[in-house]
Amino acid sequence: MSKQLYELGDMPPLGEVPEKMHAWLIRQDRFGKPTEAFQKEVVNTPAIADDEVLVLVMAAGINYNNVWAALGIPVNVIAARNKSGEVEDFHIGGSDASGIVYKVGKDVTNVKVGDEVVMHCGQWNRNCAWVQGGGDPMYSPSFRIWGYETNWGSFAQFTKVQGHQCMPKPKHMTWEESAAYTLVAATAWRMLHGWGASSIKKGDVALIWGGAGGLGSMAIQIAKAVGATSVAVVSGEDKFDYCMKLGAKGCINRNEFDHWGMLPHWKDNAGYAKWLKGVRSFGAKIWDVLGERRAPNIVFEHPGETTIPTSIFVCETGGMVVVCAGTTGYNATVDLRYLWMRQKRLQGSHFANAEQSNQMNQLALRGQLDPCMSRAFTYEELPIAHQLMHDNKHPHGNMSVLIGATQFGLGASGKAPVAMVHPTLPKGDVHTTPAPYPMSVPLPDIAGGEPLTISDDGTRVRDLMHRGIISCTPDDTVGTVAKIMVDKEIHAVVVMDGEGQAVGVVSQTDMVLARQGRTPDEARAMRAREVMTPGCATCDADMLLSDAVSLLTARRMHRLVVTENGQPVGVISMTDVVRKIIGE
Ligand code: NAP
Repeated sequence: MSKQLYELGDMPPLGEVPEKMHAWLIRQDRFGKPTEAFQKEVVNTPAIADDEVLVLVMAAGINYNNVWAALGIPVNVIAARNKSGEVEDFHIGGSDASGIVYKVGKDVTNVKVGDEVVMHCGQWNRNCAWVQGGGDPMYSPSFRIWGYETNWGSFAQFTKVQGHQCMPKPKHMTWEESAAYTLVAATAWRMLHGWGASSIKKGDVALIWGGAGGLGSMAIQIAKAVGATSVAVVSGEDKFDYCMKLGAKGCINRNEFDHWGMLPHWKDNAGYAKWLKGVRSFGAKIWDVLGERRAPNIVFEHPGETTIPTSIFVCETGGMVVVCAGTTGYNATVDLRYLWMRQKRLQGSHFANAEQSNQMNQLALRGQLDPCMSRAFTYEELPIAHQLMHDNKHPHGNMSVLIGATQFGLGASGKAPVAMVHPTLPKGDVHTTPAPYPMSVPLPDIAGGEPLTISDDGTRVRDLMHRGIISCTPDDTVGTVAKIMVDKEIHAVVVMDGEGQAVGVVSQTDMVLARQGRTPDEARAMRAREVMTPGCATCDADMLLSDAVSLLTARRMHRLVVTENGQPVGVISMTDVVRKIIGE
């Protein structure tokens, strides 16, 4: 008769699965800071399906995902699963692991009981029509990140995974090292190798953002293995040596530049010229590092909003910017001229399929991929490790935690096939940038789920608009328009053609942009038609105010011309809406 529960560190006889197991659990009533959300509990060991495997976890990798799971935002992962029919009222996180196979379902052919494995974190329904038809499972609607979007992750004595997730553990690595690299390395592999003709090749140049981070450290090594040259971007010279030991030809300190963020308005001559100056000097720095005037064929992106404009600008004609995250924000701006005239590709990428994960793992098995483990924790410290991440006080690189392994340094049973320099991060290294948003969030699609309710108090545009149109002709000078604005104390003038049709609006922003990079006389001499925003955005006086506000904000405008029976009769502006808010 087998024991019902084994103490952590006591290994049950191979293949014997106890009824219960120790685990770190998150529950809805304690969502919040990781040190409180994670609690040790004993739960039933999960049963497995025919295509599944039960693995005794020796060590687990730590990722941001479970900081978000602990907080319960932006998604309550437990409620989301309960809604889709799963009954467990808790979450066991953990999307990276090393361990020993203890039980296999009858359809599993790639591993057997006793195998030492690492696991990739992609799960999908093998009965999904897309997958059955041979489609990339990464595009399946059933795709989930194990241990974040699914339960039974690696922060427990046993984890339940699909057979294809299991890959051979590199013998030269310890349990904690081998638990550290799969999620980031497989993501980096797909980003660099998953995009047909745009994928990385021998002789290419790759620009790698965050070279000392989890993804970047893997990308440098993957680029090196294929014979490409990489240039790493980091936030300080103290990380140069680390990236170069991993294989980067050289590094750039991003703090030497200040042109980051969204692009200036394309009509803003002065702002655009300043931005161009910044981005050109960044491009010239790439040449300096390379020792030749070459642009990156591939740009490895994840910071997002602050860096995408630069990535697209510096990328070689016909090259690819491949992005898997928007750590600094999701609203990246793109100067489309560079995309179409220089025929660059902006490619989204998310984790990796089993084939790509295994290709990546071959590199690890061959000893060509350092796991870049920066810190390992004991089982008791699991919540602290997540708290450090939450507080942004964790080091760069990849972190892991012991689960079944009783000490650090166990589990390695062979020598690395090739000798590798084992790089170390600068002493006392911690993150200096805000924690990223989750790598996976539910996005609305065409079919939608819940019916959307839009609340509205019924106010119409006619209730707030100003009647009367103050206009100019397309041939009036900017000087004339400025005088109208000042005399009438208004912020925009409608441009009307000879037939009384509104053909554009000259706003204060248009006036200010006209002055950028020009003398006052040059600006004044310009014509309204040259500076106006064409195509005058209008709304009917009967339109709901909330719809008008959506029009204004979506188009980044401050006012709309109001029409009745198709004829312009007045204006509604943001100021009018603000007045309503304060009840004036
Ligand atoms: P990480 O270890 O924190 O490294 C990210 C690096 O980005 C930082 O070390 C930082 O390096 C750099 N960085 C931060 N802010 C920056 C900015 N404003 N401009 C330029 N660089 C900046 O994180 P990671 O594990 O590499 O993951 C990076 C992102 O990818 C995260 O958002 C993560 O959630 C996401 N991710 C997505 C997937 C997926 O499948 N979709 C998979 C894994 C990770 P310096 O300060 O040295 O520049």
